[in-house]
Amino acid sequence: MDEKSKSGLKSLPKIDEIMLLLEKRNIYSLAPRELVRDTCRNVVQNLREKIVKSAKKSTAPEVYNASQTADQVEGIIKNLHSYRLKRVINATGVILHTNLGRAPLCSEALQRITEISAGYSNLEFNLEKGERGIRYDHVRELLLAITGAEDALVVNNNAAAVLLCINTLAEGREAIVSRGELIEIGGEFRIPDVMTKSSARLREVGTTNRTRISDYEKAISRDTGLIMKVHTSNFRIVGFTEEASIEALVALGKKHKIPVMNDLGSGCLIALDKYGLPHEPTVREELARGVDVLTCSGDKLLGGPQAGIILGKKDILERIKKNPLNRALRIDKLTLAALEATLIHYLNPDEALHNLRNLKALTEPAATVQKRAQKLFQLLQKENTAAAKFSVKESRAAVGGGALPTAEISSFVVAVRPVKMSAGRLEERLRKLELPVIARVDKDEIMIDLRTVAEDEFGAVVKGLRECLLD
Ligand SMILES: *Cc1c(COP(=O)(O)O)cnc(C)c1O
Repeated sequence: MDEKSKSGLKSLPKIDEIMLLLEKRNIYSLAPRELVRDTCRNVVQNLREKIVKSAKKSTAPEVYNASQTADQVEGIIKNLHSYRLKRVINATGVILHTNLGRAPLCSEALQRITEISAGYSNLEFNLEKGERGIRYDHVRELLLAITGAEDALVVNNNAAAVLLCINTLAEGREAIVSRGELIEIGGEFRIPDVMTKSSARLREVGTTNRTRISDYEKAISRDTGLIMKVHTSNFRIVGFTEEASIEALVALGKKHKIPVMNDLGSGCLIALDKYGLPHEPTVREELARGVDVLTCSGDKLLGGPQAGIILGKKDILERIKKNPLNRALRIDKLTLAALEATLIHYLNPDEALHNLRNLKALTEPAATVQKRAQKLFQLLQKENTAAAKFSVKESRAAVGGGALPTAEISSFVVAVRPVKMSAGRLEERLRKLELPVIARVDKDEIMIDLRTVAEDEFGAVVKGLRECLLD
C-alpha cells in the first residue's frame, strides 16, 4: 500500500467516535444500538474502499471527518423510517399496469380491509355452528352467483391457482398443451416451467400457429392427467392460424375421462364489446362451454385485489381443496375482505362499471377523457410558466396487465414540452417526486394520459409539474 492511501485510511473516523456523535443527536430514538453500529461499519467500510480505489487512480485522497460520516449514517437511519412503497399517479395510459399495482381498489374494498383487519374476524370461524370455518367460503357464494360455477376456491394469485390445479390433476402425469399457448406471462411465469414445478410432464402438441383437436387426441395416453387451454393473454397470433375450440376439447376430455382446464388469465366478468373493446370471453361464457376447471386473476379486468380464482366442477374442486399446496398458497384476510367487496359490485354490472376504476377507465367515452384533458391543460396554462409548452393531443391508451393486447383505446394526453431541460430529465424529476407522477416520453415531450388520471389527481399533477419545471 502506498503512502497516500495509508494516510487516507488513517484519516478514517473511528466507529466509537461516530456513535458518540450520533448519541448526542438522539439517534437511539430512531434505531437500536446494533443497527446504528452496523450502519457505521458499512459506511466506514465504503469509505475505506473508496480511498483504496482513489489511491489506485492516483486522485487526491479525500479527508473524512467523524461529523460527515455521522451525517451519512443519520441519513440512512432516517430513510428507513420513510415509506418506500408509495402511492403514484399513473399517467401512462396503461390501465392495468402490473408494475404500478394493476387494479386500484374500490372504496368499499378499502373500508372492508380496515374493518376486518383492525380487529378480529370470523375468517375461519363458522358463526352459525360455532366451529372451525373455511376462509374462502366467504366469497364462494358470490362467485357461484356471478359466474354460474358449481364450486369456487380462491388463492394468492392466478400463478398459484394454475400451479395448484396442474399439481392436483396431473402430478407425475402428462398435461397436454398446444405449442401456440406455451406462453410467458412475465415475471418468470412460463407455462413449461410451471408444469415442471407442478410435477407434471408437459406434452406439447400442434405447432405455434396451428393446433387441431386431432393433435390433442393423438397425444392422449394412459399417462394423460390433464388437457389444458391457456389464454394467450398478452399476445396474439394472427394470419394462418387454427386452434381447437373449448367445446371440442371438452368433448374430447369427456370421451377419455380427462379433466379439461382453462387458464383464462384475466377475469373478465362482464361483456365489454358494447364499449368498443374486442370481445373478451367472460368467465360465465367460458364455464358454460363445459370446462372442468377455470382459473383467473383477481386484479386484472376483474378490478379487485391480487388473488387467484379457481372455478369449476364440484368433484374437481374438492380434490384441489384437499391438496396440501392449497395451504401454502392460501389467500389472506385483507385480500379476502377486498375481493368480497369488489365482487358484490358485480351483482349489478352497471354498478361494477361505475365503481371499479379499471372498468371505468376502460369504458369511458373518449369525449369524456378529452374534456378532462382540456381541464388539466387549462389548469397548467393558468400556471403561466415559461418553462414548458402544453398542448392537448389524441393518443392511444392500453389495457395492460396481459389483457386485450390488441385493443386500441383512443385517449387524450396533455403533452408537456419542457423548455429548459430534456423531456427525459422532466420524466425523471416527475418520477422522483414525493408523490411520483409516472409519465411516458415521446420525443421531446412527456405525455400525461388522461385515461388513467382522475380529476381528483389534478392538484398533485399540477403541483408536481410546477416543482419539476423549476430550475
Ligand atoms: C396474468 C396471467 C397469469 C398470472 O396471473 P397472476 O394473477 O399475475 O398471478 C396466468 N395465466 C394467464 C393466462 C395470465 O394472463
